Amino acid sequence: MERLQKVLAHAGVASRRKSEELISKGHVKVNGKVVKEMGIQIGNSDVVEVDGVPIYREEPVYFLLNKPRNMITAVSDDKGRPVVTDLFANIEQRIYPVGRLDYDTTGALMLTNDGELSQLLMHPKYQIDKTYVAKVKGLVDRKALNKLEKGIIVEGKKTAPAKAKILSSDRAKDITMVELTIHEGRNRQVKNMFQAIGHPVEKLKRESYGTLTLDGLQPGEWRELKTFEIYQLR
Ligand code: URA
Repeated sequence: MERLQKVLAHAGVASRRKSEELISKGHVKVNGKVVKEMGIQIGNSDVVEVDGVPIYREEPVYFLLNKPRNMITAVSDDKGRPVVTDLFANIEQRIYPVGRLDYDTTGALMLTNDGELSQLLMHPKYQIDKTYVAKVKGLVDRKALNKLEKGIIVEGKKTAPAKAKILSSDRAKDITMVELTIHEGRNRQVKNMFQAIGHPVEKLKRESYGTLTLDGLQPGEWRELKTFEIYQLR
């Protein structure tokens, strides 16, 4: 059993607050009858409709994928390129990625059918930490990293404070491996941040997403999240 507003939010109809609004304004029917009071408990056999359209309810599922290179973070692609959900062909639930990684970026990507959690995690206020390892061109010094940590202007807007550390550098190859932790999720943010300090990214991997780490998952492999991991994300 689950509260009506949660059922709507989980199905991705709207945020929990907006779902409460839909209920109180009489848009929601349960088993053919308009329900305006909050908190009514819904079981598996109850039919819930919003403006006459039955909502599709399925058990929420949560996965962590080590996204391989050369794959689009989407559920379909109009140019027919491989998409991350191709790797979940045997999963019957309609899952989708939470946020996105670039075509050539590898690493930790969560997929779920839980619309409510997904909206929460992607909300700018939520500030979930994401740790990346970037192979960048040139020898990076501490001064350059301080700029990333304090925030720099990227596409007209200052980035939020971040944490950065040098993992290794190779003089002969003229590259540095840098670990960068950010909590924003702007488009191509990590690449743009390194570009702004004059060290373009050659390779990018997301090592962790909040408390979720890759932990031995090879590119293309995924695992289901454990209950306590889902709890920690909320
Ligand atoms: N930042 C980027 O530039 N690319 C990604 O894929 C993720 C974060």
